[in-house]
Amino acid sequence: MTASELAEKLHARRSGRGWIARCPSHKDRSPSLSIAAGEAGRVLLKCFAGCETSAVLAALGLRWADILPPRQKLSPAEMHRQRFAREQAESAAWKIRDRIGELRRDFMDCLHGIERRQAELVAELHAAKTDVDREPVLDRLAQLAPQSTEALERFNFAFDSDAKTLAQFAGASPAEQRVMIFGAENA
Ligand SMILES: [Zn+2]
Repeated sequence: MTASELAEKLHARRSGRGWIARCPSHKDRSPSLSIAAGEAGRVLLKCFAGCETSAVLAALGLRWADILPPRQKLSPAEMHRQRFAREQAESAAWKIRDRIGELRRDFMDCLHGIERRQAELVAELHAAKTDVDREPVLDRLAQLAPQSTEALERFNFAFDSDAKTLAQFAGASPAEQRVMIFGAENA
């Protein structure tokens, strides 16, 4: 019940920023019950003759809960929207985790490829009989080191940015997560 509904129920008249009514809790000849709207829809009651607010409420057949601001009830559409957003947030987090796993696997594959190639070249090197035969093998071996460094850098870069996104996502509020998934306009 809002302050104005209560004022109406008590046939109160406007007074200042609120209303004044006859107090139902005592024999009130001249109105002494002040009614006002407080913060966040809270109803403020005061009997200037000294009645306790709980006595005033009891005389009205009301409970404290009746004059507390109404709980925000979510519409079914809003509940659905929030649940959908939560599910999207979970699946987005999984996707990022999957992506990190994929990156790691790609990198390991790449590294294993390079290691295999290195082992093959080392075997070729041992098999080579002359320096002329060894020369090209050594060149190819020398090229492999920068390749593995490059692969590692690529992996670290991709991993860092995805890990950062995941950490950001995990630390974000549900509202921020919605923005991350849907963009600012559709969140
Ligand atoms: Zn009173």
